[in-house]
Amino acid sequence: MAKRPKFQRPTGMKDILPEEQPYFEKIYRTVDDIARFYGFGKIDTPMVEDSELYERGTGQSTDIVEKQMYTIKTKGGDVLAMRPEFTPGIVRAFNENGMLNLPQPVKLYTYGPLFRYEHPQAGRFRQFNQVDFEVFGEESAAIDAQIIQIFYAFLRDLKFSHLIIEVNSIGDAQCRPYYKKVLVNYLRPRQNSLCADCRRRIRENPLRVLDCKEEKCQRVKAQAPQFLDHLCDSCKTHFKSLLEFLDEIDLPYHLDPYLVRGLDYYTKTVFEIFSESTVEQKEGEETVTRSALVGGGRYDNLVRLLGGKDVPAMGGAAGVERIVALMKEKGFLGAEIPVPKVFLAQLGDLPKKKSLKLLEELRRAKISITESLGRDSLRTQLARADKLEVEYTLILGQREMLDETIVIRKMDTGEQAIVKMDKVVEELRKRLKK
Ligand code: AMP
Repeated sequence: MAKRPKFQRPTGMKDILPEEQPYFEKIYRTVDDIARFYGFGKIDTPMVEDSELYERGTGQSTDIVEKQMYTIKTKGGDVLAMRPEFTPGIVRAFNENGMLNLPQPVKLYTYGPLFRYEHPQAGRFRQFNQVDFEVFGEESAAIDAQIIQIFYAFLRDLKFSHLIIEVNSIGDAQCRPYYKKVLVNYLRPRQNSLCADCRRRIRENPLRVLDCKEEKCQRVKAQAPQFLDHLCDSCKTHFKSLLEFLDEIDLPYHLDPYLVRGLDYYTKTVFEIFSESTVEQKEGEETVTRSALVGGGRYDNLVRLLGGKDVPAMGGAAGVERIVALMKEKGFLGAEIPVPKVFLAQLGDLPKKKSLKLLEELRRAKISITESLGRDSLRTQLARADKLEVEYTLILGQREMLDETIVIRKMDTGEQAIVKMDKVVEELRKRLKK
């Protein structure tokens, strides 16, 4: 067995190699287009923030803060956290840059890496990327619907088709305390049927029991009282209005009365978007698997909680690695990865020098071309051109240098033609257009 190299990637983190980059580029290009259309401005915030920002914002009793944060003590003694999510940093930037004075709503988007100390597994990393959209200063449920619509459109543009939107309302400061009581009254007598974490959650954050993925907790959850039956009037009206908007734009949503999401700051609307795939298992048996791609919700108290004014807000985030994995599996990019159609072969010192100049001319003419400047034999270079499945190879030898010409070889037939060097761009354009 080959010896493992001494240095390896940190657990749960990965290298994004050149062959994967086109997927990421496609995703970010799609996001930029949608953001421009819907009037979102791009924001980039630091990759580290004061750790207290997340303790207060994301919440002390969330998994993210309790178990997953990478914290750093700087040489100056500050305690910083590598960002585990985007929202608190963007809220901090909204407050710090006086964005309240801008015409409202303020629409911001971003993408980039996040860090969570998770148990690594398929689709779950310790460094991963998200695409994030946030809207500040608008309390209408129309904005909730628009955020959901934007993520849905984003995934549709990337060719996803079997998408499921789950929505729920988790109330506000008016109705949540009462619902929590109702829930605790239901959970207490059943605590022996819950996992150890959930037994603790009954005291600290009972809503999170509904979020637990443990089989036995799921069984208890299935009969639990639902928040939708205990919403106050204003939350009920908001939720009803959201569903009307979603109906109006024909989005395929489901109500999931137990969707709570893992974060403390959500108020009213919460949502997730899943991609469903049918996987064929042994003997023709099919199972449907779901991959969570997007999560988000409304957070009307967070701006104030982090030192700003009373500004309602709504947002969401999509997991880029999970989207890439599915795009690969479903062949969504395939033909779109640009492959060069021309190879440049050169023979000898002078042609090699001329090649550098010619490559730059072709780049300016937007003709994508590849080469193997380190090789000298024509045979090896043609073999490489064959392997790359290019349509044409340009051959530049000593004789052509003297004549100021170049050979164009059509790879599938082996047919060759000699053209004047100053006509090569024109000739290639003509041939590649066919
Ligand atoms: P969250 O910020 O936890 O609401 O997650 C939003 C989306 O980010 C999820 O639906 C996933 O697609 C993605 N995501 C969250 N955590 C991870 C992780 N550890 N590794 C990869 N993707 C993740």
